[in-house]
Amino acid sequence: VPLILPEFLDRAVSLYGDKQAVFCDERVFTYYELNGRVNQLSHGLRALGVEKGERVAYLAPNTVEMLEGFYGVFQLGAIMVPLNIRLKPEDYLFILNHSESKVLLVDQDLYHLIIPIKEQLETVKHIIVQYKDEQTDEVDYEKWLAGYPSGNFDRSELDEDDVCSLLYTSGTTGNPKGVMLTHRNNYLHALSTMHHLRVSDRDVYLHVLPMFHVNGWGSPFYYTANGSTHVCLKKATPESIFQAIQKHKVTVLHMAPTVLNSLLQYYEKNKPVIEHNVRVVIAGSAPPPAFVTRVEQELGWEFIQVYGMTESTPLSLVSTIRSELIHLAPETKARIKAKAGYPMIGSDVRVVNEHGEEVAHNGQEIGEVVTRSHGVMLGYWKNPEATMETIRNGWLHTGDMGTVDEYGNIEIVDRKKDIIISGGENISSIEVEGALYEHPAVLEAAVIAVPHEKWGETPHAYVVLREGAEVSEAEIISFSREKLAHFKAVTGVTFVKELPKTASGKIQKVHLRNEYWSSKG
Ligand code: ATP
Ligand code: MG
Repeated sequence: VPLILPEFLDRAVSLYGDKQAVFCDERVFTYYELNGRVNQLSHGLRALGVEKGERVAYLAPNTVEMLEGFYGVFQLGAIMVPLNIRLKPEDYLFILNHSESKVLLVDQDLYHLIIPIKEQLETVKHIIVQYKDEQTDEVDYEKWLAGYPSGNFDRSELDEDDVCSLLYTSGTTGNPKGVMLTHRNNYLHALSTMHHLRVSDRDVYLHVLPMFHVNGWGSPFYYTANGSTHVCLKKATPESIFQAIQKHKVTVLHMAPTVLNSLLQYYEKNKPVIEHNVRVVIAGSAPPPAFVTRVEQELGWEFIQVYGMTESTPLSLVSTIRSELIHLAPETKARIKAKAGYPMIGSDVRVVNEHGEEVAHNGQEIGEVVTRSHGVMLGYWKNPEATMETIRNGWLHTGDMGTVDEYGNIEIVDRKKDIIISGGENISSIEVEGALYEHPAVLEAAVIAVPHEKWGETPHAYVVLREGAEVSEAEIISFSREKLAHFKAVTGVTFVKELPKTASGKIQKVHLRNEYWSSKG
């Protein structure tokens, strides 16, 4: 039996057909109803002439339309291209043309981002607007859907190695790259993830992470296959998140650490009364241990850190700990979970030196994180050179640097491109930034390597100050010398109004490096 994604929805329909599958705004759909809409969508796309292997792009927040899009596109054998909703029109132009998408489904609230580029779209033949208002002359999704039968769809013949999605990376280090993932990638990754997150039909999953981004991308698979309930949140604010948790008795949340941080701050300030059922919150990207403790103690939610990247579907590491450690002191547990964690089932993850040998498991020696797993992408779309550079001898080179401790717990230290090598020592830019953030005047900080005659490189900080705050370069330098070993302290500071960021909020140090060099002539 080929491992194909439509099977997940089939399973939900046959076991949980009459169960509430999706809450979206004021609308509710059972799994039967969801499946009916999925079939209508597939019929509709086929009628537009979409064939197996062709690309269908989506520009939408977390809605039932987005969720049904996954299965509607997949059972047709087409390839889904989800677009980040926080990009600019010219970014959409690049991705839509680069992916050679044939159809674009777009949420009404985002349609204005497409208007300026419509004339330059080379391959898009049909634009369908979801929740259409009267202003546009495009096809209205709901009316269009209603024209097609909700009954059985004659599925395209699918192979597990067929590509099902082109997911563009965040573009933190350069232009976004189109990552080709197959049915098999997603299927096996979902099985592994649903095990690690202990997903069941009792779960009510709140979509806070966008489905268009790889972090939220897998959730339509593992929460559907198990007959869990999806709650779609179009706009996620701390207030709307707490309301949804209360209203729908949410049990699981995944979110970016920045969002979790704002949730925590909102909670500490407003103390909303929630009789919640939340059992776990899952977040990526190295948080300090104190943060983990606050989440677990104040919100009472178990915290699980995950690590991954678009190229690995995405997850490779998960920070769940052995059950007998549950009784350890909260601070000890937090220290363990503040690391990215242990390889997931089906992922072989290693930290290697420049000769490809594993580094010592002592939590000290730094190397590149490499992984070999069922989740590793087929390759980058139309970019075989980049694929060959990234996947070597079957190992995906993540470009992230890390350490492994004696228990096999992997910690992400920095991106390879961001690490600073000073007098032969590796300095994590993240660690230096962490120290700067402790200064009361500092709102945001990003640290890059700059050349130094004696040491090779030294850390240089770009700093955004809090409103009204004043502080000199010398003060920041001496503050960093107090907080860090001297060789890690910054040797220069550039004050800026804002830092360049990707749509998902990651700081683009590549732009800072360019700026530094151009400022030096
Ligand atoms: P691009 O590849 O276009 O430059 P990107 O690497 O930011 O962008 P994503 O695939 O969205 O695109 O992000 C993956 C990256 O996010 C990882 O390579 C890693 O640097 C970072 N990351 C993910 N999880 C963690 C984690 N738990 N701790 C630290 N960093 C993490
Ligand atoms: Mg990347």
